Amino acid sequence: MRAELLVHQLPLLCTLDPARDGALGELREASVGFSGGRVVYVGDAAHAPDADEIIDGQGAIGLPGLVDCHTHAAWAGSRADEFQQRLAGADYSAILEAGGGILSTVRATRAAGLDQLIALTRARVSGMRAHGVTTVEIKSGYGLDPTTERLLLMAAQSCNDLVTVVPTFLGAHTVPAEFRGDREAYLAQVLGPQLAACAPLAEAIDVYCDRGAFTLDEALAVLSAGRAHGLRLKAHAEQVTHTGIAGAAARMGALSVDHLEHIDGDGIESMAEHGTVAVMLPGAQLYLRDPAPPVESLREAGVPLAVASDLNPGTSPVHDLWTAATLACVCQRLTVTEAIAGITRVAARALGHLELGWLGPGSAADLVVVRPAPGEPTEVASLVQHLGGRRVEAVVRGGRRVV
Ligand SMILES: [Zn+2]
Repeated sequence: MRAELLVHQLPLLCTLDPARDGALGELREASVGFSGGRVVYVGDAAHAPDADEIIDGQGAIGLPGLVDCHTHAAWAGSRADEFQQRLAGADYSAILEAGGGILSTVRATRAAGLDQLIALTRARVSGMRAHGVTTVEIKSGYGLDPTTERLLLMAAQSCNDLVTVVPTFLGAHTVPAEFRGDREAYLAQVLGPQLAACAPLAEAIDVYCDRGAFTLDEALAVLSAGRAHGLRLKAHAEQVTHTGIAGAAARMGALSVDHLEHIDGDGIESMAEHGTVAVMLPGAQLYLRDPAPPVESLREAGVPLAVASDLNPGTSPVHDLWTAATLACVCQRLTVTEAIAGITRVAARALGHLELGWLGPGSAADLVVVRPAPGEPTEVASLVQHLGGRRVEAVVRGGRRVV
């Protein structure tokens, strides 16, 4: 056997083998071979096949290509001013009521054309890929009308040559300014024309169920309508207040519910029973100075934990998934193993793409080669402990070197 590409002599390779749930599948002195866009060898470096192209893995750690399972990477405009207002003491709800927050991003996004949205989204996704991310979930949600929501999903899809994109329709992100007096009419637009325009471009539907966003009944109507269009289900859940959406979405078969700062015992029980993934978003928790989700209770119940950047222009301007992994450990007390599994195998599960986030026969041919900060041992704890300092040496996607 000869491989087209061989990542050779990695002192540590974490395969995230799904057969070894809860572990990283660590192999020492290992190599990974790729041919025809597939993984053809994972194992001992001494028995690795010859290859046309070799990436020297010495001194580095190999991991499956990282999966960022919750981002709002398609938007226009900036919220740097609002950041300064919040530092000066302004409250996010007051900013929102004054037309800021998500609504200011909606204005800027509607004013941008498709070309600009594509350029901005691609630039962000390229930056994410440079850190080792090979799959990105991208939500709409800054258009809030049928035309612009569709453009955002087109901008997301335009990144498919860079990474594997999972587009999610989030028309139920907030009620736009022009519908403030008539939220029922807006909901009807989401369930009707927006969903009809967006469902063909999306894999999943998401809803922001919280105070100041959508009620539990409204959110369940959104998820039911999405399911009727064949979309997978996700929810922004229990972030600001407890609404009950996490448990209700789990019982509807949602792939994941995300945030969960205020989830209760019933919600956790339902998630455990239905295998719903809890997506931790420590960037938003940090920027909003929110309390941590009840990680210990989620863990005890056996709920799978994923970690994502929640990249967005306001409440989580976090472009680097490694940062989210570190924050998940520091601010939410995930273990290093949970954080690494949370940005690979479990994140893929949160997207319903079980071929992603691990390495072995039948997996996607995506891999990142990363070197810990100078002087650190080649161990995953070093990668996660340091906020920065690591160096991504190579990214393989679809069996080809792309970084
Ligand atoms: Zn979000």
